[in-house]
Amino acid sequence: MLACEVALHDVPVVVLERLPEMETHPKAEGITGRAIDILDRRGLLIGVDGTPAPPTAGHRARIAQGERRADSLHPKAFPGARHFATMFVLRPESPDLLVPQQLLEQDLARRAAELGVEVRRGHTVTGFTQDGDGVRIDVDGPEGPYRMRAGWLAGCDGGRSTIRKLAGIPFPGTDGITTGYRAFAEVDDPDFHLPGWFRKDNGLLVYEEGPPRFITLEFIGPPANRDAPITREEFQEALRRLSGTDVTVTKVHKINRFTDNERQAATYRQGRVLLVGDAAHVQSQWSGPGLRLGLGDALNAGWKLAAVARGRCPEELLDTYTSERHPVGAQTLEVQRASIALMRPGPHVDALRRLLTRLLLHDDTNRRLTALVDDLHISYDMGDPSLTGPLVGRYCPDLRLKGAHGTVRLAELQRTGRPLLLDLGADPALRALAGPWSDRVDVVTAACADAPADALLIRPDGFVAWSTPAGEESLTGALTRWFGPPA
Ligand SMILES: Cc1cc2nc3c(=O)[nH]c(=O)nc-3n(C[C@H](O)[C@H](O)[C@H](O)COP(=O)(O)OP(=O)(O)OC[C@H]3O[C@@H](n4cnc5c(N)ncnc54)[C@H](O)[C@@H]3O)c2cc1C
Repeated sequence: MLACEVALHDVPVVVLERLPEMETHPKAEGITGRAIDILDRRGLLIGVDGTPAPPTAGHRARIAQGERRADSLHPKAFPGARHFATMFVLRPESPDLLVPQQLLEQDLARRAAELGVEVRRGHTVTGFTQDGDGVRIDVDGPEGPYRMRAGWLAGCDGGRSTIRKLAGIPFPGTDGITTGYRAFAEVDDPDFHLPGWFRKDNGLLVYEEGPPRFITLEFIGPPANRDAPITREEFQEALRRLSGTDVTVTKVHKINRFTDNERQAATYRQGRVLLVGDAAHVQSQWSGPGLRLGLGDALNAGWKLAAVARGRCPEELLDTYTSERHPVGAQTLEVQRASIALMRPGPHVDALRRLLTRLLLHDDTNRRLTALVDDLHISYDMGDPSLTGPLVGRYCPDLRLKGAHGTVRLAELQRTGRPLLLDLGADPALRALAGPWSDRVDVVTAACADAPADALLIRPDGFVAWSTPAGEESLTGALTRWFGPPA
């Protein structure tokens, strides 16, 4: 995603990927919240599903079971409800996009190729040193070790990031307190347990029919060795402990073992090195924050890195990547820790869950928590206290814009990755004012029934950098701050 974002601005990018082939091991099963909108604003996954997916059979089954089982985890099930800490209470603004991560990775690979990104598979970064002009990178390729030089290096190399470690960037946080398994598997007795989501005295057991799918969670500390191959026996033991039966696992089709360590890099930038995605933060998988955070990071860093690499903006612009995205990551880790705490067994947590559920029956509380979980609450400091428009620093909604060529959505206009100055009040002075930035900022004059302001300056990541009622002087300031001095 980051490579595509940078390449959108005609900056050459090379991706060095350790794996010779795209990974087939299952990772994320879906995309939630703001990330769905991010994909829309770049025209990604459109071939898969232009609109968010309806609830799957699995979702429907969970909801139905919630209504009929006193011991299930569904104190109140709404159509399309999503779980928070396994309580099916959240009502998201839009349903989750239920696509496997592989599909997203394939779509990104296709987009990267279209944009001319060079992807070198089977190339592992083993070291780097940076100086004032660039970064020298040591790579272990299929034909042996070599060195390359680049202006900038972005570590998008996952939770155990080599680049973060080599840079010596601290990675504080909390260790996992759980071990869980997510598996598609077969058991000798399909009636060993009722299907559904069950809170047990010693953890959580999820058993779904269809192709049988299991999730287990036990508060027994993290796995002793996270790299050890997962055995059928260890998964079977977890199922036996949680179900209180002597069920036998006869076949495992796909399985993951997971824990819940929550850690975040102290900074996302060190000189000419950036950290993006899991390299910058690791988080438990509940509620799917990983892809949402990573896509958000890439969207924030990409256009800034391109502007600096092209010499249009000073390096300091990249410091706003840390100052904007680090608090978002920190907030997510807080939510994840809270959600793990709410899944602990025991009567005290039961009481807390009942209390929280009652509060979440109120629309306002529900909306606030959903916004927090889905990253809809984010607001960035746009660096000018004189900007008072209600949307300044916030993500611009997907406005419907009526112009000379018909009606388009803002998301469609943003697919080029270029900043937009939206003139919604037919003010010719705006176009003239932005004239010196016309090589990098598009001015669009349109009518909008729900116009939040007469004019808005929207960054490539969808955030509003300036809006009326602020005056022309502040517009010039915002254009310069975010996109560099006039040509
Ligand atoms: C079982 C499982 C279930 C998950 N479920 C969800 C979910 O439902 N929703 C969700 O949002 N998230 C989920 N996640 C998390 C999500 O998969 C991650 O957040 C996401 O993959 C992070 O993307 P990334 O690109 O930052 O890192 P990664 O996907 O880890 O990619 C890093 C890449 O860097 C490569 N690499 C590593 N070191 C080097 C090196 N030295 N040189 C070159 N290349 C290197 C690796 O081969 C890898 O391809 C899940 C994860 C797992 C494991």
